[in-house]
Amino acid sequence: MQIWKFGGTSVGKPERMKSIRELVTADSGRKVVVLSALSGTTNALIAIGEALAANKIGDAEQQIVTLYAHYESFIKELYTTEASSEEGKKIIDSEFGFIRSLAGIAPFTQKKQKELVAEGEILSTRMFTAYMKEQGESVVLLPALDYMRIDADGEPELASIEKLMKKLLVPQADKQIIVTQGFICRNPRGEVDNLKRGGSDYTASLIGGALTAEEIQIWTDIDGMHNNDPRVVKRTFPVRELSFEEAAELAYFGAKILHPSTITPAKMRGVPVRLKNTMDPSAPGTLITADSSNQTEIKAIAAKDNVTAIYIHSTRMLNAYGFLRKVFEIFEEFKTPVDMITTSEVSVAVTIDNPENLEKITEKLSQIAQMEDHDRNQSIICIVGNFLADKPGIAIRILEAMKGIPIRMISYGASEHNISLLVDGTNKNAALEALNEGLFNFE
Ligand code: ADP
Ligand code: ASP
Ligand code: MG
Repeated sequence: MQIWKFGGTSVGKPERMKSIRELVTADSGRKVVVLSALSGTTNALIAIGEALAANKIGDAEQQIVTLYAHYESFIKELYTTEASSEEGKKIIDSEFGFIRSLAGIAPFTQKKQKELVAEGEILSTRMFTAYMKEQGESVVLLPALDYMRIDADGEPELASIEKLMKKLLVPQADKQIIVTQGFICRNPRGEVDNLKRGGSDYTASLIGGALTAEEIQIWTDIDGMHNNDPRVVKRTFPVRELSFEEAAELAYFGAKILHPSTITPAKMRGVPVRLKNTMDPSAPGTLITADSSNQTEIKAIAAKDNVTAIYIHSTRMLNAYGFLRKVFEIFEEFKTPVDMITTSEVSVAVTIDNPENLEKITEKLSQIAQMEDHDRNQSIICIVGNFLADKPGIAIRILEAMKGIPIRMISYGASEHNISLLVDGTNKNAALEALNEGLFNFE
């Protein structure tokens, strides 16, 4: 069994959806096909939810009308027979009926907002399944809400996902293509929830892990993981092979092509992940496996934005033990992950991604240390590759490339695969460009 996931742009136009059918049927293997919402839909649904939460009912209604019109013209081009056109109309009418019902009753709660954003994936998968049936394919729609589970901390419960999914697949043994929704799940209260933005990649990997699939393929609009952010840097190129560790670092530190947690379940069960381009299916893309034999020194760079740097100063750290434990217990208490850490004899600097509890954290830290002002809007630049500890020269090349750009923190040595730099967010683009020119060979 393989798991193939198609992102928003890959399903965003009727002709794209049609080409997905060609792709998934051209290869004879049995597959779970995970779909995102059509591109733009999740953003549109979030905007509708925000208008409803702000009591701007007229605005929300107008946006629903516009979105409905988009789906109406989409299905006109997607289906060829009258029966399936009618089926398509029924699908969008019933889902938009639900969207309108959510909009109709005040107050607009967080729970309703989650049900509203889930409609994007529910619409795309229902429409695609109906299209596959129209074309005579052996297909079934398996609702993600029946098996995708997260715990109270929002973390997926792989064991229950595995159990539920395997049970649901038993009666579908004769089906060649199993279509399901990316992104959406249920929380421990049984409510509709999601795996956060870009979460369809994570769905594919969780299913791949749960079923110990042969391979997970993430189909998107680019020919694999590039060596740098192609939205920022001019000259980027695809990286053909990555190890799980390298890909996980890049995803976590901002390579938007993968949801930050995608690699975890695949790595846990040893399932290879292949990144492929829907617009150019014959391009090799990127293969991510346990053991990347490719020992290229510098493979890729990614950047994570909107990071906050926190500076903690204490003479109690001098020659003392136990101080760092107290510091990290405070972050643990507020469930706030720390990304980068640097220390001197009397100071610790850390970065966090989620500033929700920053005030409370600072207040607690002030009881054990002296706090300097935080730096908000920082960017972590993460350089990934094979940096063997006894091989000289890598740090100088990085610092040489960065010579015109102020660096706030450097983290080197924790792993042989990652060197991270912290820069002010306003310098991020310049840093990515400078490192690209300085570290890669463009002969
Ligand atoms: P999908 O809708 O298929 O999930 P995304 O927009 O989430 O697609 O991810 C693909 C996009 O990620 C690319 O179009 C590209 O602009 C962006 N991206 C950012 N960093 C990288 C990188 N290092 N390699 C490839 N793509 C990247
Ligand atoms: N539709 C969701 C989003 O836009 C999930 C995804 O596309 O991966 O975030
Ligand atoms: Mg994505």
